[in-house]
Amino acid sequence: MKAPICRACAIGETLCPSCQSKLSSGAISRLDVDISRILYKINEQHNLSLASFTRALDAGAQVLVFTDGEPGVLIGRGGRVVSALSAALGRRVRILSESGDARRRLEDLLSPVKIGGINEAYSAGRTLMRVRLSKEDERLLPLDVRALEPLVSKWMGKPVEFVFE
Ligand SMILES: [Zn+2]
Repeated sequence: MKAPICRACAIGETLCPSCQSKLSSGAISRLDVDISRILYKINEQHNLSLASFTRALDAGAQVLVFTDGEPGVLIGRGGRVVSALSAALGRRVRILSESGDARRRLEDLLSPVKIGGINEAYSAGRTLMRVRLSKEDERLLPLDVRALEPLVSKWMGKPVEFVFE
């Protein structure tokens, strides 16, 4: 299994100097550590050796768990792995792919809300990507899109802004 912390740290209760410095520098979060440990526990019952957990993001009503591998491994047959993860965390969890076409990943992330359009915009001396969503859909969004801007900006390779209109 691939995780943001090493195997010893995921199985143990303390962090080695290398994982600790990733946490201190903000390269990984406490949530990444918690989920890595939960996944290693789940691995004792369901084989997650092919799983590749890259990062987690607290998006308000849901915790988003990203993978650069096959999302089905972290979902599990009949959703068993994601259910066990959700129960251990006490939060709703969604597994999302971090690889593939950027626009499609964005649509997966925002599902069931549809993207109205994507434009290049110029603001405060920089070019940014404006993702337009319908104001009527705002209440349907399962997550806080503002919290997603840094991650989506990384995917798109430029600053991203969500607007409701
Ligand atoms: Zn470690």
